[in-house]
Amino acid sequence: MAELLEFQNVTKIYSRGLISKQSTTALNNVSLKLDEDEPTILTVAGESGSGKTTLAMLLLGFIEPSAGTIFYKGKDITKLRGEERMTFRREVQAVFQDPFAVFNPFYTVDHLLTVPIEKFRLAKTKAEAKDRMEEALTAVGLRPEDILGRFPHQLSGGQRQRINVARALLLKPKLLVADEPVSMVDASLRATILETLRNLQKNYGVSIIYITHDLTTAYHIAKSIMVLYRGNLMEAGDVDTVIKTPQHPYTRLLIDSIPWPDLSRRWGESAALVKESEISDHGDGCRFYARCPHAMEKCKAPPPLFRMEPHQAASCYLHDRFPEISPDHVYELLPV
Ligand code: SF4
Repeated sequence: MAELLEFQNVTKIYSRGLISKQSTTALNNVSLKLDEDEPTILTVAGESGSGKTTLAMLLLGFIEPSAGTIFYKGKDITKLRGEERMTFRREVQAVFQDPFAVFNPFYTVDHLLTVPIEKFRLAKTKAEAKDRMEEALTAVGLRPEDILGRFPHQLSGGQRQRINVARALLLKPKLLVADEPVSMVDASLRATILETLRNLQKNYGVSIIYITHDLTTAYHIAKSIMVLYRGNLMEAGDVDTVIKTPQHPYTRLLIDSIPWPDLSRRWGESAALVKESEISDHGDGCRFYARCPHAMEKCKAPPPLFRMEPHQAASCYLHDRFPEISPDHVYELLPV
């Protein structure tokens, strides 16, 4: 297996205050691997404060881990220099939540698309650059003649987000980090954008890390899922299995809070979602202790990951009859 990306026991701790230092563990001992030869879509799911955006920032090289290592094609990303760093910057692209953020209202879409072409010297002539732009726009389901020459205010939110995807695609990425890419887009356009992302994976061999709080979109797009809570992995596995038969009380809570269009399903019957600020810390034990309806004395010690299915494991003592799996082997749970 040729690894495209590997997180090896990655932890990120933020410190605050000069005199009495306070620290917050945003991500705790997370490992994952993506294979270069088998492009896939992996969802990283959780509420705000779960560590999913920290994971994206680490992956893009915007911040460095406090412990552990992130490898891209076998190289520690914090040590990439020169040509290797440029290749990493080109091959790992991001699409963020706000489809408006990257647009300057005074420039046309052409400008937005020309910048990366020039920066990475992707075309020798203007005609070649135009061909590249048209190809990328077509790949995301847009008609270049409807888009080129337009200003941002002349485009819908859905068109803008697809232009952002086209901009990433111009660079022929190997990995796309999509951080809540549909949360600010009209519900009617979400399916189109998710379909666009899925086509990139299937037709262009791009692996996608899809970051979301929304398990319905995760279910529609991804093959595998990692559920995070307060920086810790709660459950991981095949997206179908995890969403249809969640085993961790936190995953169940997330799923119960979804207004599924199924009248036989009771909505929100378990512990209600509460604000992070209302949760007290329970030391080194299970991070979900304060909210868990099943909390037991032994949950005051950190629960290992228990593997109940070939493609499902949960970090919860309710499953301690199953064999443990090391956090370094989480990739075994994630089908491609
Ligand atoms: Fe609840 Fe204990 Fe499982 Fe944590 S380990 S989710 S507190 S039952």
